[in-house]
Amino acid sequence: MQTQPSRYVASAAFAAEMDAGDRLRNFRDKFHVPKQPNGEEVLYFTGNSLGLQPKTTGDYIEQELKDWATLGVEGHFRAKRAWMPYHEIVTEQLAAIVGAKPIEVVAMNSLTVNLHLLMVSFYRPTAARHKIVIEAGAFPSDQYAVQSQIKFHGFDAEDSLIELSPREGETVLRTEDIERTIAENADSIALILLGGVNYYTGQKFDFQKITAAGQKAGAIVGFDLAHAAGNVELKLHEWNADFAAWCSYKYLNSGPGAIAGAFVHERHAESFDLPRFAGWWGHEKETRFLMGSEFVPIRGAEGWQLSNPPIFQLAALKASLDIFEEAGMNNLFEKSSELTGYLEFLLADIKDERVSVITPANPQERGCQLSIRVKNSDKTLFKAVSDKGVIADWREPDVIRVAPVPLYNSFTDVFRFAEILKDCLK
Ligand SMILES: *Cc1c(COP(=O)(O)O)cnc(C)c1O
Repeated sequence: MQTQPSRYVASAAFAAEMDAGDRLRNFRDKFHVPKQPNGEEVLYFTGNSLGLQPKTTGDYIEQELKDWATLGVEGHFRAKRAWMPYHEIVTEQLAAIVGAKPIEVVAMNSLTVNLHLLMVSFYRPTAARHKIVIEAGAFPSDQYAVQSQIKFHGFDAEDSLIELSPREGETVLRTEDIERTIAENADSIALILLGGVNYYTGQKFDFQKITAAGQKAGAIVGFDLAHAAGNVELKLHEWNADFAAWCSYKYLNSGPGAIAGAFVHERHAESFDLPRFAGWWGHEKETRFLMGSEFVPIRGAEGWQLSNPPIFQLAALKASLDIFEEAGMNNLFEKSSELTGYLEFLLADIKDERVSVITPANPQERGCQLSIRVKNSDKTLFKAVSDKGVIADWREPDVIRVAPVPLYNSFTDVFRFAEILKDCLK
């Protein structure tokens, strides 16, 4: 484990002091925090799985229910936030989350659906160039999505899938190894599709280097930002990624099954010759309601839309994005790094040989999540921790994932978690 930054102290008083100096400390009050049976708030560390509900979400959705009740179909134009262009009111805020231009992002569908739609356009294998590069042990849905795309095009995952694994004895991927694999397969890679932050290890990839290496090899580079959006600083436009997709129920706090997001780089904004699966909401707005038979896509990411969007979900997304905007992304990243740094320090301070962190020690190579490996443990340890009011998650065989989220977690939460873990290890 990393040497300890000495500015941290393992005490409740120090944690309270950090909380007092935290300029985002009042944001916790903007969220509903679940309670234990004894009435105390849980220690919630699963914002990487399902973010907490903003207290304003109900009001935003209520507004749409009210407008529907009072306006019926007229709500498309006359609702407080007119439904017809509703997805457009989140565009700028979404663009800020992923570091994009407004023309490059759209809220639509769900994550895996968006991955498929984008692969329809951006995975176009040929006999010579047909391989997809992913992380070994990528999130299952991503594995199924790429395997089925390969199969759909008449290829075989045996020949067409390259899975990146850490070196023997290591837990995360080295950028140089990713670059080498790309270079070695430069003639045959069609697509590189990595999680921006790996869901299991919490490793953040070097987006810029990987994108550059992939494009130099002549491949398309896409990212699954499920664990990155709202968690780490993203500059998709500047990094020149071809496409990306993410869900909004993890760090983006937009509720179970929330409407997802997609990014298509500006340079593809008018690539109308790309194959794409089309629907009426992707059709040019001025002529959409002429109901013509010829599909004319909107420039940019919006042209990949299929259906008119679910307004209640957009309302939940809007409620959450307003909070992100108010907090300021830089404030969030700054606090996040401190909060996770403190957790890392406290874990080292437990001084138990069995405990290690598989997430990179370099704050530049991770977001807020730490994946804690407890050697020779089984689920009983996790159960003991859970029984003390901690909501974290367990990944077989021996990893507890803990994500202190800067919007609603405190230094005291982190301190109390470490104390509970220490207790349960005895
Ligand atoms: C959470 C997650 C998903 C989930 O996909 P859905 O389509 O939203 O169900 C997919 N991929 C990754 C990497 C994830 O972290």
